[in-house]
Amino acid sequence: MSNNKDIFLCAICNIESGTCNEDCKFCTQSVKYKADIERYKRKQIEQIVEEAKRARANHANGFCLVTAGKGLDDKRLAFVCEAVRAVKKENLGMIIIACNGTASVEQLEALKEAGADAYNHNLETAQDFYSEIVTTHTWEERYETCQNVNKVGLRLICGGIFGLGETQEQRISMLESIASLNPRNVPINFFHPNEALPLVENSINRQEAFELIELTRKMIPNAQKIMVAGGRELMFKEEQYKVFEHGANAVVVGDYLTTAGKSAQDDIASIEAAGFTITAERDCK
Ligand code: SF4
Repeated sequence: MSNNKDIFLCAICNIESGTCNEDCKFCTQSVKYKADIERYKRKQIEQIVEEAKRARANHANGFCLVTAGKGLDDKRLAFVCEAVRAVKKENLGMIIIACNGTASVEQLEALKEAGADAYNHNLETAQDFYSEIVTTHTWEERYETCQNVNKVGLRLICGGIFGLGETQEQRISMLESIASLNPRNVPINFFHPNEALPLVENSINRQEAFELIELTRKMIPNAQKIMVAGGRELMFKEEQYKVFEHGANAVVVGDYLTTAGKSAQDDIASIEAAGFTITAERDCK
């Protein structure tokens, strides 16, 4: 049995990077902002499988296959399904998560059929703030995809990003919307500024960030995991393992989508030194 000292580790695999035509102001993957990141269309399946094995060797409990872009089309769906099948075949004991933007019920059924266990789609921010951050698609489309995930019976992973200039009321509104979708896992991100982006600075400080983790836990009590994802190192620096004292019980290990993370081994050593354990494979079912 897992206990409240167990920390779930999730590894991210960016299988298509930096090719997105959307204009989310916080995202370096948008082609509109010309951030200095690696951009490529499709990672080789063999490389994806190698990364999955490496993630498992680093004690990752979840493996998330992420594509840049608004959502799935037939080609992208076929590619993600192939990647999911290839990783599944290795029987590594990790939860396989797809994260590929807006998706229909049929597309999600195909991913489930291929072997995906979960789908990650974040609401990002509050419904009434979204149009100030993104103009190329709507918040309602995002919400509908999350409903579709629930309809097909994939585990829903749904969170958002703090520090975009939203008000406290808007943060609460986003958390209420996430709670209404009853997600299994809630990833929360803290905006990581990049000089190429239109948003220049994060609008929250560390203490507020700790309080937002607590608020997330309080407002979404049924979530099995509150995961601190992007922005952990930048926001919390030497206090980053205190996120677990504030209600988080999952983190992203290894590199993020376009920013380098700490090495997984360093993370594990620090998590254990702080008195926590890594979720055992048997608890990843
Ligand atoms: S958040 Fe997603 S949809 Fe928005 S620019 Fe980044 S990759 Fe594209």
